[in-house]
Amino acid sequence: MQYGLLGRKLSHSLSPQIHTLLGAYPYALFEREESALAAFFSDEQLAGFNVTIPYKTHAYAACDARSETATRIGAVNTVIRRPDGTLFGDNTDYFGFCHMADHCGVTFQGKKVLILGSGGASRMVQVVCKDRGAREIIVVSRNGKNDYDHLHLHRDADILVNATPVGMYPNNLEAPVDLQLFPNLCAVFDLIYNPMRTALLQQAEALKIPCINGLRMLVAQALRSAELFTGHPIALTKIDEICQTIEATQRNVILIGMPGCGKSTVAKTLAEKLHRRVFDTDAMVEEVDGRTIPQIFEAQGEPFFRTLETAACEEAGKQQGVIIATGGGAVLSERNRAALKQNGVVIYLQKELTTLATDGRPLSKDIEALQSIYRTRKAIYETYADDIIPVDPDVSVTTERVISCICSL
Ligand code: NAP
Repeated sequence: MQYGLLGRKLSHSLSPQIHTLLGAYPYALFEREESALAAFFSDEQLAGFNVTIPYKTHAYAACDARSETATRIGAVNTVIRRPDGTLFGDNTDYFGFCHMADHCGVTFQGKKVLILGSGGASRMVQVVCKDRGAREIIVVSRNGKNDYDHLHLHRDADILVNATPVGMYPNNLEAPVDLQLFPNLCAVFDLIYNPMRTALLQQAEALKIPCINGLRMLVAQALRSAELFTGHPIALTKIDEICQTIEATQRNVILIGMPGCGKSTVAKTLAEKLHRRVFDTDAMVEEVDGRTIPQIFEAQGEPFFRTLETAACEEAGKQQGVIIATGGGAVLSERNRAALKQNGVVIYLQKELTTLATDGRPLSKDIEALQSIYRTRKAIYETYADDIIPVDPDVSVTTERVISCICSL
Protein backbone atom coordinates (compact mmCIF):
# COMPACT_ATOMS: atom_id res chain seq x y z
CA MET A 1 0.00 0.00 0.00
CA GLN A 2 1.55 3.30 -1.09
CA TYR A 3 0.90 6.71 0.51
CA GLY A 4 2.46 10.10 -0.12
CA LEU A 5 2.19 13.81 -0.78
CA LEU A 6 0.99 15.39 -4.01
CA GLY A 7 2.21 18.89 -4.91
CA ARG A 8 4.20 20.77 -7.50
CA LYS A 9 7.47 21.60 -5.64
CA LEU A 10 8.19 19.38 -2.70
CA SER A 11 11.95 19.29 -2.19
CA HIS A 12 11.72 21.07 1.21
CA SER A 13 8.78 19.01 2.46
CA LEU A 14 8.94 17.68 6.02
CA SER A 15 6.03 15.29 5.39
CA PRO A 16 8.08 12.13 4.70
CA GLN A 17 9.97 12.64 7.98
CA ILE A 18 6.74 13.28 9.90
CA HIS A 19 4.88 10.30 8.41
CA THR A 20 7.84 8.02 9.08
CA LEU A 21 7.61 9.07 12.73
CA LEU A 22 3.83 8.53 12.70
CA GLY A 23 3.47 5.07 11.23
CA ALA A 24 4.87 2.14 9.37
CA TYR A 25 3.61 2.85 5.87
CA PRO A 26 5.57 3.84 2.78
CA TYR A 27 5.27 7.58 2.15
CA ALA A 28 6.66 9.20 -1.00
CA LEU A 29 6.70 12.64 -2.60
CA PHE A 30 4.76 13.02 -5.86
CA GLU A 31 5.71 16.19 -7.74
CA ARG A 32 3.23 16.50 -10.59
CA GLU A 33 2.32 19.09 -13.19
CA GLU A 34 -1.36 19.85 -13.57
CA SER A 35 -1.57 17.87 -16.81
CA ALA A 36 -0.57 14.69 -14.90
CA LEU A 37 -3.21 14.99 -12.18
CA ALA A 38 -5.94 12.88 -13.80
CA ALA A 39 -3.54 9.92 -14.13
CA PHE A 40 -2.34 10.46 -10.57
CA PHE A 41 -5.85 10.46 -9.08
CA SER A 42 -6.76 7.24 -10.89
CA ASP A 43 -3.59 5.35 -9.89
CA GLU A 44 -4.92 2.45 -7.84
CA GLN A 45 -1.52 1.73 -6.30
CA LEU A 46 -2.15 4.73 -4.07
CA ALA A 47 -4.17 3.83 -1.00
CA GLY A 48 -4.17 7.43 0.22
CA PHE A 49 -2.34 10.70 -0.14
CA ASN A 50 -1.95 14.21 1.18
CA VAL A 51 -2.27 17.23 -1.06
CA THR A 52 -0.47 20.55 -0.83
CA ILE A 53 -0.13 23.83 -2.80
CA PRO A 54 -1.44 24.23 -5.49
CA TYR A 55 -3.65 21.14 -5.77
CA LYS A 56 -6.06 21.19 -2.81
CA THR A 57 -8.99 22.39 -4.91
CA HIS A 58 -8.09 19.98 -7.74
CA ALA A 59 -8.19 17.12 -5.22
CA TYR A 60 -11.50 18.43 -3.92
CA ALA A 61 -12.98 18.23 -7.41
CA ALA A 62 -11.51 14.77 -8.03
CA CYS A 63 -13.09 13.18 -4.93
CA ASP A 64 -16.29 11.17 -5.16
CA ALA A 65 -17.26 12.10 -1.59
CA ARG A 66 -15.97 14.59 0.97
CA SER A 67 -16.18 15.19 4.71
CA GLU A 68 -18.41 18.03 5.91
CA THR A 69 -15.27 20.00 6.93
CA ALA A 70 -13.71 19.66 3.48
CA THR A 71 -17.00 20.68 1.87
CA ARG A 72 -17.27 23.82 4.00
CA ILE A 73 -13.65 24.80 3.25
CA GLY A 74 -13.85 23.85 -0.41
CA ALA A 75 -10.43 22.15 -0.31
CA VAL A 76 -9.07 18.68 0.40
CA ASN A 77 -5.65 17.89 1.87
CA THR A 78 -6.15 14.17 2.56
CA VAL A 79 -7.57 11.60 0.19
CA ILE A 80 -8.21 7.91 0.84
CA ARG A 81 -9.14 5.32 -1.72
CA ARG A 82 -12.13 3.36 -0.47
CA PRO A 83 -12.49 -0.43 -0.99
CA ASP A 84 -14.71 0.19 -4.04
CA GLY A 85 -11.95 2.33 -5.60
CA THR A 86 -13.71 5.69 -5.10
CA LEU A 87 -11.92 8.65 -3.51
CA PHE A 88 -12.92 10.22 -0.20
CA GLY A 89 -11.51 13.64 0.67
CA ASP A 90 -11.05 15.34 4.03
CA ASN A 91 -9.38 18.50 5.28
CA THR A 92 -7.17 17.74 8.27
CA ASP A 93 -5.64 21.24 8.22
CA TYR A 94 -8.79 22.22 10.14
CA PHE A 95 -7.80 19.90 12.99
CA GLY A 96 -4.17 21.05 12.68
CA PHE A 97 -5.07 24.71 13.14
CA CYS A 98 -7.48 23.97 16.02
CA HIS A 99 -4.75 21.98 17.73
CA MET A 100 -2.25 24.82 17.23
CA ALA A 101 -4.67 27.31 18.85
CA ASP A 102 -5.55 24.95 21.71
CA HIS A 103 -1.88 24.28 22.38
CA CYS A 104 -1.36 28.03 22.91
CA GLY A 105 -4.57 28.39 24.93
CA VAL A 106 -5.97 30.88 22.39
CA THR A 107 -9.77 31.14 22.16
CA PHE A 108 -11.65 32.89 19.35
CA GLN A 109 -14.98 33.49 21.10
CA GLY A 110 -15.88 37.20 20.79
CA LYS A 111 -12.53 38.09 19.19
CA LYS A 112 -11.76 40.10 16.07
CA VAL A 113 -9.47 38.02 13.85
CA LEU A 114 -7.36 39.38 11.01
CA ILE A 115 -6.42 36.72 8.47
CA LEU A 116 -3.73 37.67 5.94
CA GLY A 117 -4.23 36.05 2.54
CA SER A 118 -7.32 34.68 0.82
CA GLY A 119 -6.10 31.26 -0.38
CA GLY A 120 -6.83 27.72 0.80
CA ALA A 121 -5.31 28.02 4.27
CA SER A 122 -7.14 31.30 4.83
CA ARG A 123 -10.47 29.65 3.97
CA MET A 124 -9.76 26.90 6.50
CA VAL A 125 -8.86 29.45 9.22
CA GLN A 126 -12.05 31.41 8.45
CA VAL A 127 -14.15 28.27 9.02
CA VAL A 128 -12.37 27.54 12.33
CA CYS A 129 -12.88 31.14 13.51
CA LYS A 130 -16.56 31.00 12.59
CA ASP A 131 -17.02 27.64 14.35
CA ARG A 132 -15.29 28.96 17.45
CA GLY A 133 -17.40 32.09 17.77
CA ALA A 134 -15.13 34.90 16.52
CA ARG A 135 -16.90 38.28 16.66
CA GLU A 136 -15.46 39.57 13.41
CA ILE A 137 -13.30 37.90 10.73
CA ILE A 138 -11.39 40.17 8.36
CA VAL A 139 -9.57 38.67 5.40
CA VAL A 140 -6.74 40.94 4.31
CA SER A 141 -6.07 40.55 0.61
CA ARG A 142 -3.92 42.40 -1.91
CA ASN A 143 -7.18 43.05 -3.74
CA GLY A 144 -10.50 44.34 -2.42
CA LYS A 145 -11.48 46.76 0.32
CA ASN A 146 -9.48 45.11 3.12
CA ASP A 147 -6.14 45.52 1.39
CA TYR A 148 -2.77 46.32 2.96
CA ASP A 149 -3.36 50.08 2.56
CA HIS A 150 -6.35 49.94 4.89
CA LEU A 151 -4.91 47.99 7.80
CA HIS A 152 -5.42 51.02 10.07
CA LEU A 153 -9.17 50.27 9.96
CA HIS A 154 -8.42 47.13 11.95
CA ARG A 155 -6.21 48.44 14.73
CA ASP A 156 -8.61 46.74 17.17
CA ALA A 157 -7.79 43.20 15.95
CA ASP A 158 -7.28 40.68 18.77
CA ILE A 159 -5.71 37.83 16.79
CA LEU A 160 -3.64 37.88 13.60
CA VAL A 161 -3.06 34.85 11.37
CA ASN A 162 -0.57 34.89 8.52
CA ALA A 163 -1.97 32.62 5.80
CA THR A 164 0.28 34.04 3.06
CA PRO A 165 3.69 32.72 1.99
CA VAL A 166 5.31 36.10 2.81
CA GLY A 167 8.47 35.44 4.85
CA MET A 168 8.68 31.78 3.83
CA TYR A 169 11.99 30.25 2.64
CA PRO A 170 13.70 31.31 0.38
CA ASN A 171 12.20 34.80 0.81
CA ASN A 172 13.15 34.94 4.48
CA LEU A 173 13.05 38.13 6.56
CA GLU A 174 10.03 39.65 4.78
CA ALA A 175 7.07 40.49 7.01
CA PRO A 176 3.56 40.92 5.58
CA VAL A 177 2.60 43.65 8.12
CA ASP A 178 4.01 45.76 10.94
CA LEU A 179 2.52 44.41 14.15
CA GLN A 180 2.91 47.75 15.92
CA LEU A 181 -0.24 48.80 14.04
CA PHE A 182 -2.29 46.44 16.20
CA PRO A 183 -1.96 47.29 19.90
CA ASN A 184 -4.69 44.85 21.05
CA LEU A 185 -3.15 41.65 19.69
CA CYS A 186 -3.18 38.76 22.15
CA ALA A 187 -1.94 36.13 19.67
CA VAL A 188 -0.09 35.86 16.34
CA PHE A 189 -0.19 32.65 14.31
CA ASP A 190 2.14 32.21 11.36
CA LEU A 191 1.29 29.12 9.31
CA ILE A 192 4.82 29.15 7.89
CA TYR A 193 7.28 26.67 9.47
CA ASN A 194 10.40 27.40 7.40
CA PRO A 195 11.98 29.49 8.86
CA MET A 196 10.92 28.54 12.37
CA ARG A 197 10.94 32.19 13.42
CA THR A 198 9.72 34.37 10.56
CA ALA A 199 10.24 38.13 10.59
CA LEU A 200 6.59 38.39 11.67
CA LEU A 201 7.13 36.07 14.63
CA GLN A 202 10.30 37.93 15.59
CA GLN A 203 8.24 41.15 15.67
CA ALA A 204 5.66 39.41 17.88
CA GLU A 205 8.37 38.17 20.24
CA ALA A 206 9.86 41.67 20.49
CA LEU A 207 6.40 43.06 21.32
CA LYS A 208 5.83 40.21 23.78
CA ILE A 209 2.74 38.96 21.93
CA PRO A 210 2.23 35.17 22.32
CA CYS A 211 2.98 33.59 18.95
CA ILE A 212 3.57 30.26 17.22
CA ASN A 213 4.83 28.98 13.87
CA GLY A 214 3.13 26.43 11.62
CA LEU A 215 5.13 23.33 12.57
CA ARG A 216 2.66 22.11 15.18
CA MET A 217 -0.21 22.54 12.72
CA LEU A 218 1.74 20.61 10.08
CA VAL A 219 2.39 17.72 12.46
CA ALA A 220 -1.18 17.71 13.81
CA GLN A 221 -2.75 17.61 10.33
CA ALA A 222 -0.36 14.77 9.42
CA LEU A 223 -1.39 12.83 12.53
CA ARG A 224 -5.06 13.11 11.61
CA SER A 225 -4.22 12.05 8.03
CA ALA A 226 -2.25 9.05 9.34
CA GLU A 227 -5.32 8.03 11.35
CA LEU A 228 -7.39 8.15 8.15
CA PHE A 229 -4.73 6.17 6.25
CA THR A 230 -4.41 3.41 8.84
CA GLY A 231 -7.83 3.46 10.52
CA HIS A 232 -6.10 3.52 13.93
CA PRO A 233 -6.15 6.36 16.50
CA ILE A 234 -2.79 7.91 17.43
CA ALA A 235 -2.14 9.53 20.82
CA LEU A 236 -1.92 13.34 20.65
CA THR A 237 1.29 13.20 22.72
CA LYS A 238 2.91 12.00 19.48
CA ILE A 239 2.56 15.60 18.19
CA ASP A 240 4.82 16.95 20.97
CA GLU A 241 7.31 14.16 20.40
CA ILE A 242 7.52 14.79 16.64
CA CYS A 243 7.68 18.59 17.00
CA GLN A 244 10.60 18.17 19.41
CA THR A 245 12.41 15.75 17.09
CA ILE A 246 12.01 18.04 14.08
CA GLU A 247 12.96 21.18 16.01
CA ALA A 248 16.11 19.47 17.26
CA THR A 249 17.19 18.42 13.76
CA GLN A 250 16.26 21.71 12.09
CA ARG A 251 17.72 23.99 14.73
CA ASN A 252 20.92 25.86 13.97
CA VAL A 253 23.51 26.48 16.67
CA ILE A 254 24.88 30.01 16.44
CA LEU A 255 28.11 30.85 18.23
CA ILE A 256 28.70 34.49 19.15
CA GLY A 257 31.34 36.24 21.22
CA MET A 258 34.43 38.43 21.13
CA PRO A 259 36.90 38.15 18.23
CA GLY A 260 39.38 35.36 19.01
CA CYS A 261 37.26 33.59 21.64
CA GLY A 262 37.31 30.34 19.65
CA LYS A 263 34.00 30.37 17.79
CA SER A 264 35.39 28.90 14.54
CA THR A 265 37.36 26.18 16.36
CA VAL A 266 34.42 25.17 18.57
CA ALA A 267 32.13 25.25 15.50
CA LYS A 268 34.36 22.72 13.73
CA THR A 269 34.50 20.25 16.63
CA LEU A 270 30.78 20.71 17.26
CA ALA A 271 30.05 19.98 13.60
CA GLU A 272 32.15 16.81 13.71
CA LYS A 273 30.43 15.58 16.86
CA LEU A 274 26.91 16.38 15.65
CA HIS A 275 27.51 15.51 11.97
CA ARG A 276 26.48 18.96 10.81
CA ARG A 277 27.82 21.51 8.36
CA VAL A 278 29.58 24.70 9.47
CA PHE A 279 28.75 28.17 8.13
CA ASP A 280 31.49 30.55 9.28
CA THR A 281 30.43 34.09 8.38
CA ASP A 282 34.03 35.44 8.27
CA ALA A 283 35.10 32.57 5.99
CA MET A 284 32.00 33.16 3.83
CA VAL A 285 32.95 36.84 3.42
CA GLU A 286 36.51 35.91 2.44
CA GLU A 287 35.27 33.33 -0.04
CA VAL A 288 32.81 35.71 -1.71
CA ASP A 289 35.25 38.65 -1.82
CA GLY A 290 38.43 36.72 -2.59
CA ARG A 291 40.48 38.70 -0.05
CA THR A 292 41.28 38.15 3.63
CA ILE A 293 39.40 40.21 6.22
CA PRO A 294 42.49 42.35 7.07
CA GLN A 295 42.86 43.05 3.33
CA ILE A 296 39.19 44.06 3.03
CA PHE A 297 39.49 46.37 6.07
CA GLU A 298 42.70 47.85 4.69
CA ALA A 299 41.37 48.46 1.18
CA GLN A 300 37.73 49.39 1.78
CA GLY A 301 37.19 49.86 5.49
CA GLU A 302 34.84 48.40 8.03
CA PRO A 303 31.46 49.53 6.54
CA PHE A 304 32.21 47.61 3.33
CA PHE A 305 33.12 44.52 5.36
CA ARG A 306 29.90 44.84 7.38
CA THR A 307 27.80 44.83 4.19
CA LEU A 308 29.41 41.57 3.10
CA GLU A 309 28.97 40.21 6.60
CA THR A 310 25.23 40.95 6.55
CA ALA A 311 24.86 39.00 3.31
CA ALA A 312 26.75 36.10 4.93
CA CYS A 313 24.53 36.21 8.05
CA GLU A 314 21.39 36.17 5.88
CA GLU A 315 22.65 33.19 3.90
CA ALA A 316 23.75 31.27 7.00
CA GLY A 317 20.58 32.13 8.93
CA LYS A 318 18.38 30.61 6.20
CA GLN A 319 20.01 27.19 6.66
CA GLN A 320 18.63 24.55 8.96
CA GLY A 321 20.47 22.06 11.15
CA VAL A 322 23.88 23.73 10.79
CA ILE A 323 26.49 25.29 13.07
CA ILE A 324 27.08 29.01 12.49
CA ALA A 325 30.26 30.73 13.68
CA THR A 326 29.88 34.52 13.56
CA GLY A 327 32.40 37.33 13.40
CA GLY A 328 32.74 39.11 16.75
CA GLY A 329 30.87 42.22 15.53
CA ALA A 330 28.17 40.45 13.51
CA VAL A 331 25.53 40.75 16.20
CA LEU A 332 25.90 44.55 16.47
CA SER A 333 23.49 44.85 13.54
CA GLU A 334 19.80 44.30 14.25
CA ARG A 335 19.33 42.86 10.76
CA ASN A 336 22.09 40.32 11.37
CA ARG A 337 20.58 39.36 14.70
CA ALA A 338 17.18 38.76 13.07
CA ALA A 339 18.76 36.79 10.21
CA LEU A 340 20.76 34.54 12.53
CA LYS A 341 17.93 33.83 14.97
CA GLN A 342 15.45 32.62 12.35
CA ASN A 343 16.20 28.97 12.89
CA GLY A 344 18.55 28.84 15.77
CA VAL A 345 19.70 28.87 19.32
CA VAL A 346 22.39 31.43 20.15
CA ILE A 347 25.32 30.54 22.41
CA TYR A 348 27.64 33.24 23.70
CA LEU A 349 31.17 31.88 24.14
CA GLN A 350 32.63 33.92 26.97
CA LYS A 351 36.40 34.14 27.37
CA GLU A 352 38.76 36.24 29.51
CA LEU A 353 39.92 39.23 27.43
CA THR A 354 43.63 38.68 28.04
CA THR A 355 43.41 35.19 26.53
CA LEU A 356 41.69 36.16 23.26
CA ALA A 357 43.52 35.41 20.01
CA THR A 358 44.37 38.64 18.13
CA ASP A 359 46.17 37.53 14.96
CA GLY A 360 44.46 38.45 11.67
CA ARG A 361 41.79 40.46 13.53
CA PRO A 362 41.92 44.11 12.45
CA LEU A 363 39.98 45.50 15.43
CA SER A 364 41.80 43.51 18.16
CA LYS A 365 45.07 45.50 18.13
CA ASP A 366 45.84 45.48 21.88
CA ILE A 367 44.21 44.94 25.24
CA GLU A 368 42.88 48.52 25.39
CA ALA A 369 41.26 48.08 21.98
CA LEU A 370 39.73 44.77 23.13
CA GLN A 371 38.45 46.31 26.36
CA SER A 372 36.81 49.11 24.42
CA ILE A 373 35.16 46.66 21.99
CA TYR A 374 34.01 44.51 24.90
CA ARG A 375 32.39 47.47 26.67
CA THR A 376 30.22 48.23 23.62
CA ARG A 377 29.33 44.62 22.87
CA LYS A 378 28.94 42.91 26.26
CA ALA A 379 25.27 43.84 26.78
CA ILE A 380 24.34 42.83 23.23
CA TYR A 381 26.07 39.44 23.55
CA GLU A 382 24.35 38.81 26.87
CA THR A 383 20.83 39.86 25.90
CA TYR A 384 20.90 38.26 22.44
CA ALA A 385 22.24 34.89 23.60
CA ASP A 386 19.95 32.07 24.67
CA ASP A 387 22.77 30.85 26.91
CA ILE A 388 26.31 31.76 27.93
CA ILE A 389 29.10 29.17 27.97
CA PRO A 390 32.53 29.84 29.53
CA VAL A 391 35.31 28.88 27.10
CA ASP A 392 37.72 26.23 28.43
CA PRO A 393 41.33 26.07 27.13
CA ASP A 394 40.46 22.51 26.01
CA VAL A 395 38.19 22.83 22.95
CA SER A 396 36.59 19.44 23.58
CA VAL A 397 35.43 20.60 27.02
CA THR A 398 33.83 23.74 25.53
CA THR A 399 32.22 21.62 22.81
CA GLU A 400 30.70 19.25 25.38
CA ARG A 401 29.40 22.25 27.32
CA VAL A 402 27.70 23.59 24.20
CA ILE A 403 26.18 20.19 23.42
CA SER A 404 24.72 19.75 26.90
CA CYS A 405 23.46 23.32 26.75
CA ILE A 406 21.60 22.90 23.44
CA CYS A 407 20.12 19.60 24.62
CA SER A 408 18.60 21.38 27.60
CA LEU A 409 17.18 24.37 25.67
P1 NAP B 1 -2.42 29.78 -1.41
O1 NAP B 1 -3.70 29.07 -1.64
O2 NAP B 1 -1.47 29.98 -2.53
O3 NAP B 1 -2.82 31.22 -0.80
C1 NAP B 1 -1.89 32.13 -0.31
C2 NAP B 1 -2.51 33.52 -0.28
O4 NAP B 1 -1.53 34.41 0.18
C3 NAP B 1 -2.93 34.01 -1.66
O5 NAP B 1 -4.26 33.69 -1.90
C4 NAP B 1 -2.70 35.51 -1.58
O6 NAP B 1 -3.86 36.17 -1.09
C5 NAP B 1 -1.63 35.65 -0.49
N1 NAP B 1 -0.33 35.95 -1.11
C6 NAP B 1 0.40 35.20 -1.97
N2 NAP B 1 1.54 35.82 -2.30
C7 NAP B 1 1.56 36.99 -1.61
C8 NAP B 1 2.44 38.08 -1.53
N3 NAP B 1 3.61 38.09 -2.22
N4 NAP B 1 2.13 39.12 -0.74
C9 NAP B 1 0.97 39.12 -0.03
N5 NAP B 1 0.08 38.12 -0.08
C10 NAP B 1 0.37 37.06 -0.85
O7 NAP B 1 -1.60 29.09 -0.25
P2 NAP B 1 -2.19 28.39 1.07
O8 NAP B 1 -2.34 26.95 0.84
O9 NAP B 1 -3.37 29.15 1.53
O10 NAP B 1 -0.96 28.57 2.06
C11 NAP B 1 -0.65 29.82 2.62
C12 NAP B 1 0.50 29.69 3.61
O11 NAP B 1 0.14 28.81 4.66
C13 NAP B 1 1.77 29.11 2.97
O12 NAP B 1 2.88 29.74 3.55
C14 NAP B 1 1.73 27.66 3.40
O13 NAP B 1 3.02 27.09 3.49
C15 NAP B 1 1.11 27.78 4.77
N6 NAP B 1 0.42 26.54 5.16
C16 NAP B 1 0.88 25.90 6.26
C17 NAP B 1 0.28 24.76 6.68
C18 NAP B 1 0.79 24.07 7.92
O14 NAP B 1 0.43 22.91 8.15
N7 NAP B 1 1.57 24.73 8.76
C19 NAP B 1 -0.81 24.22 5.98
C20 NAP B 1 -1.26 24.92 4.85
C21 NAP B 1 -0.64 26.08 4.45
P3 NAP B 1 -4.35 37.54 -1.79
O15 NAP B 1 -4.17 37.34 -3.26
O16 NAP B 1 -5.76 37.65 -1.37
O17 NAP B 1 -3.49 38.65 -1.27
